[in-house]
Amino acid sequence: MNPCPCGHLGDPRQACQCTAAQIQRYQSRLSGPLLDRIDLQIEVPALPPEQLTSREVGESSAVVRARVMAARQRQYARGALNAHLGGRELEAACALSTADRAWLAGVLERLRLSARAYHRVLRVALTLADLAEKPHPERGELMEAIGYRQLDRQLRQG
Ligand SMILES: [Zn+2]
Repeated sequence: MNPCPCGHLGDPRQACQCTAAQIQRYQSRLSGPLLDRIDLQIEVPALPPEQLTSREVGESSAVVRARVMAARQRQYARGALNAHLGGRELEAACALSTADRAWLAGVLERLRLSARAYHRVLRVALTLADLAEKPHPERGELMEAIGYRQLDRQLRQG
């Protein structure tokens, strides 16, 4: 989605023409329950043209594919894809340390994220651990997973 009706909110190269009330009305159309269900919310700023045409290449699709296939393999070996784990199975697979569990509960409460968001954060963190070939998520994966709920955090604190 665009950040605002004109699409330029936060764009360093072109000023946003919207009023605060327009922006508020636009963003509030995304309800909390809907946002809860979107696991990866990331701000993607407009790229400067010179970067769009840059020849610098990132990882090849083949390399990324191999990493994703390996992560799915780990999930099948555990019994099911992360997407299909129920709440209890998910918590068992994550095997969070007592300290990490308490930390996560505190962060979610401070961010006013819902109970549903808790399991969704766990699911993303577990997938990050699978991609990194770690046995289970730790603080770094939890932080990254929470980081992907950017819009959720902005709107709830807004
Ligand atoms: Zn705007």
